[in-house]
Amino acid sequence: MSSANRTYCKHGHPWVAENLYTIPKTGQLVCRECVRQANRRASPTYKKELDTLKRNSKRLDADLHEAIAQKQASEKIAALSLACLEAYREIKRFTSVKKVTLKEAEDKSQKAKIREQKVAERKQKRMLREASTSNI
Ligand SMILES: [Zn+2]
Repeated sequence: MSSANRTYCKHGHPWVAENLYTIPKTGQLVCRECVRQANRRASPTYKKELDTLKRNSKRLDADLHEAIAQKQASEKIAALSLACLEAYREIKRFTSVKKVTLKEAEDKSQKAKIREQKVAERKQKRMLREASTSNI
């Protein structure tokens, strides 16, 4: 592609008049942004600045992963505490049903004992009555 028709430099910067510079000796058009970045890379502080940016990026990445882990942990805690609460309610339902059943069983056997006692008393009275009438 000829330099007259291009819209971007090979690094993606706009190929427009305000971003172009003509090298006086050769007349070659160059991308000002590319030159700026090349100069920056050549500066003594470039590596230090880049290292700082990379360190910050790594720290943010670590913070992000920690936050995600904490979020997942807190979601897990919430789910587990819900499950614990449900298990506790299940136990409560189970034991309350059992208690009622036991109480009912106790009441039934108590009533049965009373009934048996009454039957036995009636039988005894009848036998006494029969014995007294046959002796006369
Ligand atoms: Zn460029």
